[in-house]
Amino acid sequence: MQLIDNFNFAGKKAIVRVDFNVPLNKETGEVSDDTRIRGALPTIKKILADGGSAILMSHMGRPKQNPDPKFSLKQIIPAIEKNIGQKIQFVDDCMKADAQVAALKPGEVLLLENLRFYEEEEGKPRGEFETEEAKADAKQKDFAKKLASYADVYVNDAFGTAHRAHGSTAIIADYFDAGNKMFGFLINSELKAMDKVLNESQKPFTAIMGGAKVSDKIMIIENLLDRVDNLIIGGGMTYTFIKAQGGNIGNSLCEADKLDLALEVLKKAEEKGVKVYLPTDAVNADKFDPEANTIISKTNETPDGWMGLDIADETIKTFSDVIANSKTVLWNGPMGVFEFEKFAKGTSAIAHAVAQATANGAFTLIGGGDSVAAINKNKLGDKVSYVSTGNTWKEKFFRASKQFAGNKHRIKEAV
Ligand code: AMP
Repeated sequence: MQLIDNFNFAGKKAIVRVDFNVPLNKETGEVSDDTRIRGALPTIKKILADGGSAILMSHMGRPKQNPDPKFSLKQIIPAIEKNIGQKIQFVDDCMKADAQVAALKPGEVLLLENLRFYEEEEGKPRGEFETEEAKADAKQKDFAKKLASYADVYVNDAFGTAHRAHGSTAIIADYFDAGNKMFGFLINSELKAMDKVLNESQKPFTAIMGGAKVSDKIMIIENLLDRVDNLIIGGGMTYTFIKAQGGNIGNSLCEADKLDLALEVLKKAEEKGVKVYLPTDAVNADKFDPEANTIISKTNETPDGWMGLDIADETIKTFSDVIANSKTVLWNGPMGVFEFEKFAKGTSAIAHAVAQATANGAFTLIGGGDSVAAINKNKLGDKVSYVSTGNTWKEKFFRASKQFAGNKHRIKEAV
């Protein structure tokens, strides 16, 4: 397969599928976290430096109509220009870019309006009948073909959507021959980071799983049990485990139908020799509120009427020690309700512990929107080995670990 590293874009128009599905500040409309834009820079810069031109395309949000100013990529132009360091052009309908594409010169960048203003991008069947679905397929192909007609080369650098058969990802690729389509640097590095964690992890390997629910992460957890030495569990999912073990959890988050599953996970971990660390103490709140009153208790002795919203000092110490002694760390999901300042300490402490482990020589990978946000909030983005930008990380991790398990070469082949 063609690699971007040794491709020369001189004189070529490259259409690049990026993931600019960035969060916007609700009040100012400005980009509040430009991690994804920064992620695409190496690919864009390579194209421009070679003397090619870049046509950027992306989705943003879930627009319900065409056009929908709330989801217009026009809003992110300043953030893109700031990052690329030059003015860019914009076309407000991704299906009507012929004239601007024809006028595009080497070194220039053209951004297409939100691909999801057209339902053909996702290509969902729009009817119950086979013929309707077939029609949707044909429309999606036409959509992809039109996008393909703008360029000589196709580059896919949108990891978050790469596994889906969307118009601008899988379908468009059919309209380029093998030598003129490739993955961008971001996808390559995400795959390499994942490969390193899955197949080349040095021991001890510690996975830190947090966030709200066990049910969301159970597949990853089960998968990790075959690979990790330590499994740290934090966040809301803690309490399903504590309750399953007979503890008192007050009003803490609990998935009553997952108690057996939690016990099963603990049993499997024991069988596989994985050491599981559950929080032993917690910061409890009397209501789910940023201004709630707080008390500390053992996690299995949460007083009635209170709910655990963060890990407390004893747990922070235990978790930090385990992390500090690890050679590979994978972190997905916050340790508490870190959106509220009163309950953000545990997550921040873990972010610092992961950065410290990195400084000690560990390979550390942060995946999932909330842990990435926590790392960024603590300004530790460049103090960990790899921050995954895709928000469908959980799904990707699961797919990749299934797909690539035990076969180091497949990821390289896929690239
Ligand atoms: P997830 O998307 O599954 O990674 O979950 C992230 C969410 O979990 C964040 O919005 C946190 O506020 C929430 N969360 C973390 N810890 C707790 C907790 N102890 N109780 C309730 N929600 C929590």
